[in-house]
Amino acid sequence: MKNLFIFNSDFRLKDNPALYRASHSGDSLDALFIFNQQKWRDHNESDLKIAFQIEHLKILSKELDDLNIPLKVIFANGIKEEAPKIIEYVTSNNIHNVFVNKEYGLNEIQRNSDLERDLKKVGVKHHIFDSSIFTPDSIKTQSETFFKVYTPFSKAFRSKLSTKQIEVLGIPKKQSSKQQNSDEIPAIDLQPNKKEILDLYEIGEENALQKLEQFLDQKILRYKEERDIPSIDGTSSLSPYLSSGVLSSKQCLHYVLGKHSENDIGVRTWVNEIIWREFYKYILFHNPRVSKNLSFAEKYDDFPWSENKEHFDSWCIGKTGVPIIDAAMFQLNSTGWMHNRLRMIVAMYLTKNLLIDWRKGEKYFMEHLIDGDFASNNGGWQWSASTGVDAAPYFRIFNPVTQSERFDKDGIFIKKWLPQLSLVKNIHDPSSEERKEIGYSLHLVDLKDSRKRAIDVFSNFSK
Ligand SMILES: Cc1cc2nc3c(=O)[nH]c(=O)nc-3n(C[C@H](O)[C@H](O)[C@H](O)COP(=O)(O)OP(=O)(O)OC[C@H]3O[C@@H](n4cnc5c(N)ncnc54)[C@H](O)[C@@H]3O)c2cc1C
Repeated sequence: MKNLFIFNSDFRLKDNPALYRASHSGDSLDALFIFNQQKWRDHNESDLKIAFQIEHLKILSKELDDLNIPLKVIFANGIKEEAPKIIEYVTSNNIHNVFVNKEYGLNEIQRNSDLERDLKKVGVKHHIFDSSIFTPDSIKTQSETFFKVYTPFSKAFRSKLSTKQIEVLGIPKKQSSKQQNSDEIPAIDLQPNKKEILDLYEIGEENALQKLEQFLDQKILRYKEERDIPSIDGTSSLSPYLSSGVLSSKQCLHYVLGKHSENDIGVRTWVNEIIWREFYKYILFHNPRVSKNLSFAEKYDDFPWSENKEHFDSWCIGKTGVPIIDAAMFQLNSTGWMHNRLRMIVAMYLTKNLLIDWRKGEKYFMEHLIDGDFASNNGGWQWSASTGVDAAPYFRIFNPVTQSERFDKDGIFIKKWLPQLSLVKNIHDPSSEERKEIGYSLHLVDLKDSRKRAIDVFSNFSK
């Protein structure tokens, strides 16, 4: 019996339930990758993230080869074309069973249900696995609805966690023989500066696991104190690997809880972040509005966002005149990654001080992040814009200068990205004379006035 496993957002061998099961269920197995540039464009996936995945596939292809599993590549033009292209592959290669891991976006759910229907017609079985720690329908409130607030969700999550040992799967089983050769993995066109950025990231599942181990051995116990300081490398930097499924959340919990006790505050805080990740996936699954480019809270559908293009463009290129924001945007544009504290600061500035639609910031992030993850990015943006689940209340607006004084006290992070500010007296908010002298932008908007304007607009809208 011949089986097929399809890679979606799970670019790993270990703890990959669909691949693992497929390898134990037949006489031979093909792995399949669908090269679908139109889908990536439709979903605003950054070239950087796709190139990162392609580099992983090259390694996976060799590793699969050693297991006698050929990695085949087919092409599709948009997500709707994936099901028919898979059917073509299945029928011309005499496949009996198809194995995939679940994805929670609306388009992906639709694609899988089309696939299931079409596979049935040609007499092929579709096996769907869930690689989450807990499936989204297994966590419910007492009244059997889904949670909309993080804290009770995390309590329910933790109570399930305490009753269950988190087990992870090993590598797939070696097949007795390989019936065809692997395909060449197509390259994607990457601008030279993006190639340099890609070189900043280690490739490979084993490297990702090692990075996790190093974080657990060397940094996690200081995580609570250091995680908010962007000049310190105090977080795990695992998000690119988690977002592309090179590493699973389950592996993170398995290793952290195997090594440390949650009585330690650093450990507990980090586990909370993994639970935030699961929470946003849960929200994506339970609320289809999130996949439809709509605010979680329906009442914001007609919110009067500002259309000021000049403001938005200045934010994108880091020319807002607020040093911490400009430095953060330089970090994003130069590395494809941004520190979490800064993501909150720049998102709140865009959606409150500039009153620009969170969807514009969400898209810009997806197009530039190497760790772009639809659920977490959408959740983070809607949290900042006060339109999401368990969001920041609209009147609690960060002052970016105060945030800068608090989390980048000595301006080390700002100086790294904006060295021209090294000698000004107040690095968090230089005087107009100093700005003129060094050619640094003036404020786009007055921080106090724009804060007041945002509160007025939100409160009038909420009446
Ligand atoms: C506006 C905004 C946009 C964001 N966009 C993304 C995104 O596209 N992709 C993404 O992975 N994360 C996103 N985040 C969440 C968070 O900023 C990153 O996960 C984190 O900065 C990654 O760094 P790290 O791996 O060192 O995290 P650590 O602090 O080491 O945390 C470990 C892991 O927990 C998860 N995590 C941490 N914080 C959060 C959070 N607030 N929400 C959900 N998961 C979290 C991530 O998978 C992370 O890798 C966003 C946050 C905001 C406010």
